[in-house]
Order: sequence, then structure tokens, then C-alpha cells
Amino acid sequence: MAEEKNIEEEVAVTVTEGREVRNFIENFIDEDIAEGRFSGKPIYTRFPPEPNGYLHIGHAKAICLSFTTAEKYGGKCNLRFDDTNPVKEDTEYVESIEEDVRWLGFEWDELRYASDYFEKMYSCAVTLITKGLAYVDDLSADEIRETRGTLKVSGSDSPYRDRPAEESLQLFSEMRSGLHEDGSKVLRAKIDMSAPNINLRDPVIYRISHASHHRTGDEWAIYPMYDFAHPLEDAIEGITHSLCTLEFEDHRPLYDWVLANTDWEMPPRQIEFARLGLTGTIMSKRLLKELVDNGNVDGWDDPRMPTIAGLRRRGYTPESIREFCEKIGVAKANSLVDADFLEHLVREDLKVKVQSRNVVFDPIKIVIENYPEDLTEEMAMENSREMPEWGERLVPFGRELYIDGADFMEEPVKKYFRLFPGNEVRFKGAYFLTCKEVRKNDDGSIKELVCTYDPETKSGSGFSGRKVKGTVHWVSAKTAVEITVREYESLMIENEEGEQVLNPQSVTVKQCFAEPLVADAAPGESFQFFRHGYYVADSVLNDEGTAGVNDEVKAGVNAGVKAGVKAGPKVFNQIVGLKSSWKK
Ligand code: ATP
Ligand code: MG
Repeated sequence: MAEEKNIEEEVAVTVTEGREVRNFIENFIDEDIAEGRFSGKPIYTRFPPEPNGYLHIGHAKAICLSFTTAEKYGGKCNLRFDDTNPVKEDTEYVESIEEDVRWLGFEWDELRYASDYFEKMYSCAVTLITKGLAYVDDLSADEIRETRGTLKVSGSDSPYRDRPAEESLQLFSEMRSGLHEDGSKVLRAKIDMSAPNINLRDPVIYRISHASHHRTGDEWAIYPMYDFAHPLEDAIEGITHSLCTLEFEDHRPLYDWVLANTDWEMPPRQIEFARLGLTGTIMSKRLLKELVDNGNVDGWDDPRMPTIAGLRRRGYTPESIREFCEKIGVAKANSLVDADFLEHLVREDLKVKVQSRNVVFDPIKIVIENYPEDLTEEMAMENSREMPEWGERLVPFGRELYIDGADFMEEPVKKYFRLFPGNEVRFKGAYFLTCKEVRKNDDGSIKELVCTYDPETKSGSGFSGRKVKGTVHWVSAKTAVEITVREYESLMIENEEGEQVLNPQSVTVKQCFAEPLVADAAPGESFQFFRHGYYVADSVLNDEGTAGVNDEVKAGVNAGVKAGVKAGPKVFNQIVGLKSSWKK
């Protein structure tokens, strides 16, 4: 509840009737402009992902913020791959990140790679050494950690701290040429081993790594550390405002130190904002990669994943994600946003974008005793309740139909108005039907319901003889298309100890019957399944070139073929249900 209230307050702040409201980042930028900090230069931001995984919804927040801030000020925004850690980075990730940023609707001014600046970064490091502000250290990683001190205790100087600049220059050049082993030496900034901010206690700024880089190959045997590389990347690109998440706040003094000592006319300004957290999910590329590597999910774009690729395959629209990022606002305190809020926005967006189709779940067969064997009628159905201007479509109706399992009860509970023996209900857009008999299989399960229909009650005929309380939807058995529907719950749940663990019920696979038009769905096309929710045709193609993924799904489809049903091997992912659990 507390979180929901938070969002509502934020919403109130961002959408106050047409009045322009500035967030704290814009306030800083306004200040900088007023003070002439960048001498009238246009605002320049960047989104700097490390290509070590797919982007998630948290990144979407950072993307929206960097791109829209630049846009608001008539400035520019770069997409920059922060590719300074060769072991974890890959071209697959580079490609997915470009696709995701574009899909969200943003176009970068320039596409940059930190690895293009390795030479420049190297010369900045040489500058620091020459100025007596950096030294090559032979201590091991463990020794460096042990001598760094704690919040209460100062660190102690490395025995190599006062190594002459010429010697460090020589060693640094040897490190570059690959003459030294991984971990045998590092380059450290010479700042202050007793600084209250531990990040300033002679941080490591270069390390040796003989790993092959996805772009520079084996050209480099040393790689810059984030805290050294990032400010330089920003400065090289002429970034004015470097927006990043809160965990970098304590690194800002080092960011400023690097820039102050490497001679830049207009050093960029780093501004931190809160990370986005979302209920029922985890938001760390490292943990998401574990799920992928362990086979807990069906790849980075599994519809349960909070990745942009997963949300896209799940049928979320870029507009709703952008709306979400705008409405949650930017704050200086980390918070957890309710996933229901995102679902709510997706539903609101889809409502006015997608057509309705009839699909029955847990199907029960209906036989209309008094309906002609070979007659098929075309019944007009509205394409969208929200958008009457989209008109109607024709849906075939016949003697044999399917209805939802949930629309029949052999022994109805109180206030159950749908089909039960002896009861008459409206079949939406068709006739009134009465259930006369329940036919069972040998195992006691329902084989079919024998019904009668009243020809007088045809929809649209103006019939007003009597009213019925229940309305059900249906599909004609002769033309039904068998589809596979995947329904989702959140990927992570809390166990009794309060830890986030995988939800064993995060996906349920169902075989359903749909009206014929559903077979024409294009991969990625979304619909409202009448009375059920919003669904998207899966965009991952199987061997037959149609939407669908695994063998389980194919087996289901083949079963449909065997049963003589016109089968389109179609798989649909649930996007969101119809009802919002989001409380305004
Ligand atoms: P992760 O911890 O998931 O790997 P990261 O911060 O290491 O994320 P980067 O590729 O370095 O991932 O992130 C690129 C940008 O996205 C950074 O500026 C980072 O601050 C921002 N970002 C990452 N996660 C979030 C989040 N949950 N909310 C908002 N911004 C985020
Ligand atoms: Mg990172």
C-alpha cells in the first residue's frame, strides 16, 4: 500500500494540469544553464549500457530519462557501449541493446563504443603518472583490499606508492604490451589512503587482462576500470550531464578527480537518480543471466522476464513502458514500484489498440439438437467495445459449438447465471440456448451438453419476449482453431524466509479453441480474448515458420490435428488479464 501511495504522489507531481513541473535533474540543469556552466553549449546526455546482458525495465527508466531530458532541452543523447570488461561482453548483447532502445522509440544522435577511446584513455593515464598522480602497484588484489582500511580505519600506503614516475611509465607500457601476467600489476591513482570516502583510497584504474575483446580483439592486454573510464568517455563525447543510478553517488568525487586532473575545458556533471525496482521480479543482468544459463527460463526473451525483449514478446507496448517510466517519476530515494501499475498502463493502452476475438478455455462441447446439421450462420460481432468505429466481423455459428468450461456447472452454486441443466442463457451475438442433457464419457467426465435453441431469439432480430440473466461466448466446432495459450504469474515469489525464489507456477500452458480469424494472427499481433484478457501471438517462430516454441506446444497442436480440428499451430502469450488489481 505504501508503495502504491508513493506512485500516486509521483503521478500527481508529474501530471499537474499543464503546469510545467521540473524534476530535480531538470532543476540542476536549469541551474547550470543559468550559471553558464557549459557556456551555452546544448545539453548532451548518454545512455551507457555495458553489453554484458539484455536490457531490463530498469534500464528503460534510465533510457527514457536520458533521451527525454536531452529532448526537452533541444539537446542530444548518445548510445554508448561501455565495453571495458572483455570477459563478459558480447556482440549478441550489443545487437539486442540497439534493437531494444529503438523499439522503445528512441534514436540516438551517435552510437559510440568506450573501446574506441582506449588509446585516449591510455594517454590520460600516462598524463596522471607523469604528474605523479598514478603509479604501477605490484600488490595482489587481496593485498590491495587488505590495505585499503575500513570506514573507521585509514588505509596504508603500498610499498610501491612512491615508485618514480619513469619506472611506472616503463612498467605501464610493458603491461600494455602484454609482458606481465593477469593480476601481477595494476595502475592506481595516487589520491589519499586516509580519505573518508574509500573510493578515493588510491583506486585501481587499470588492470591486466589477456582476454580477447569483442571489438579490439587482442590489441590490448590492459583495460581501464569503470571509475576511470566512465568520466573520460563522457568528457570525450562532450556530454554535459551524465545521469546514472544512486550507487555511483559515492564515486562522484573520483569522477570529478579524474576529470580535474586530465585537463578538460568543460567537464561533465554527474547526477544520480534512484534505481527502479519492480515487485515480483529481479532486476540485475547478472541474476537474469543466471536464469537463462540455468535453463530456468526460455532465454532472455522469455515472456516472464523483465527484460525489454521479454516484455516485447509478452505483448507489452513501448508506449505503455514509456508512460510507466514517466509516471513513476525520478526521485533520489530507491523504491519498489508495484508491477500492477505497469500492467494497468499496458491494459489501458491495449484497450484502444486491439480487436476482440472469441476464444474458449477448458472447452466443453455443445450440440444443438434442433439446429440444422449442415447450416452455418455468420453472426456479426463487434470488434471492440471501446472502439465502436472499428465495426463488426462475421463469426460462424453451427450446430456444434464450444463454450468455456467455467460457463457450465452441472450443479450450479447460488447466483450462478450461466449454463446449467434446465437453464436458458444468451449465446452472445447468436441465440438463447437451453441445456437439456449432460452426456458423459465412461470416466464420468463431460462429453457434451445437449441443448436446444429458440430461433425467435436471434440477436439483432429485436426479440423481446423474455430476458435471460447469463451471457456466454462460444466458437463453432466445425471452424474452431486450436491454439496454445500460456498464462503467467510473476517469475519470482517470496518464500517463508522472505527470500526471492522462482515461482514454480509462473507459467501455465492451456489448449483452447478460437474463432477462425485467430489463425491469421501475425507473430506479435495482439487481441483481447473476449472475457479473458489480452493475448499476443508469440513472435518466436518454430520449424514450420509459425509462432510457437517448444515440443510440448507442438504435441498439443498435433493432437488437435488428429482430432480433426482445423489447426493453426499458434501460440499466444497472456499479456494482462482484464481486471486491474491496481488501486488508484
Ligand atoms: P545491472 O546491475 O542490471 O547489470 P547495470 O547498472 O550494471 O545493471 P549497465 O549496463 O551498467 O547495467 O547500466 C546502464 C545504465 O542503466 C546505467 O546508467 C545504470 O545506472 C542504469 N540502470 C541499470 N539498472 C537500472 C535500474 N534498475 N533502474 C534505473 N536505471 C538503471
Ligand atoms: Mg554495470
